[in-house]
Amino acid sequence: MQIIQHQSELRQALQGAPRIALVPTMGNLHQGHLSLVQQAAATGALVVVSIYVNPLQFGANEDFNRYPRTLAQDIALLENAGVDVLFVPENHTIYPDFDASQRSTGQDVLVSLTAVADRLCGASRPGHFNGVATVVLKLFNLVFFNGCQQAIALFGKKDFQQLSVIRQMVRQFNLPIEIIAAPTIREPDGLALSSRNGYLSPAQRALASGLYQTLLNSAQQHQAQHPLSSAQIRALEAQAQAQLQQLGWRVDYVQICHPDTLLPAQGKQASYVILGAAYLGETRLIDNIEYQI
Ligand code: AMP
Repeated sequence: MQIIQHQSELRQALQGAPRIALVPTMGNLHQGHLSLVQQAAATGALVVVSIYVNPLQFGANEDFNRYPRTLAQDIALLENAGVDVLFVPENHTIYPDFDASQRSTGQDVLVSLTAVADRLCGASRPGHFNGVATVVLKLFNLVFFNGCQQAIALFGKKDFQQLSVIRQMVRQFNLPIEIIAAPTIREPDGLALSSRNGYLSPAQRALASGLYQTLLNSAQQHQAQHPLSSAQIRALEAQAQAQLQQLGWRVDYVQICHPDTLLPAQGKQASYVILGAAYLGETRLIDNIEYQI
């Protein structure tokens, strides 16, 4: 595995590779990330993993400063995972006008998505998905703009809305990139693996699978009670929120949506996704479950 920081070295390492599979991450790697790497390796393409904690996607009061940075441990995990190139860019490589003294990325050209990015997590984290889409487009350009003929990028369904945003960006910018979506890897009690789980106290960790369990309950109830009207679906969402509150969560949202548009489900389709975001203390966790009726 080659570890690369600079754009010129990256271009050299990827020169002439006909197929490249990219797994963008923010590091502090766990089995969820490794499952993406495994799927990337299974494509037979040259595998690039990136680790970059992107300041542009964090709000002013969010956890950018304390986000776990564990590069040595991440390198050890990736060493025998079938990765060809680990790209660990510096801020200036991603943001040419980065200004550390001003704590500014200097980025004044943004990928700004509307419909799919304004809702759910986008409503409570304004600008978050612009930051995500912008950094991902930059990574695509850095990694794939080397004459590679087949470009593949892998993202986890754990971040379901992020996946929709990326798909929409690829579609609307006509990017010749295949997006592979990978299933969510969970702890035995159902908690989705996340770098932010490390923020939880033991008492919070004991409660944390409640988000998944509540979403699962609601999805099963919807399946059992089908057909539900739009108003009944909204009532099911409200019930899930109340259950989470009783379990000790501060709820941001629980919504049952159409999996393609992420608009609130109206009860007339066959495929659904229930998404939730809620806080245990200061820690904001998200999860989702897709289901069919
Ligand atoms: P992050 O480092 O949190 O930005 O995540 C990098 C990639 O890993 C994203 O595509 C995530 O959706 C994916 N990912 C994070 N957690 C999981 C998980 N538990 N299962 C599968 N993929 C995940």
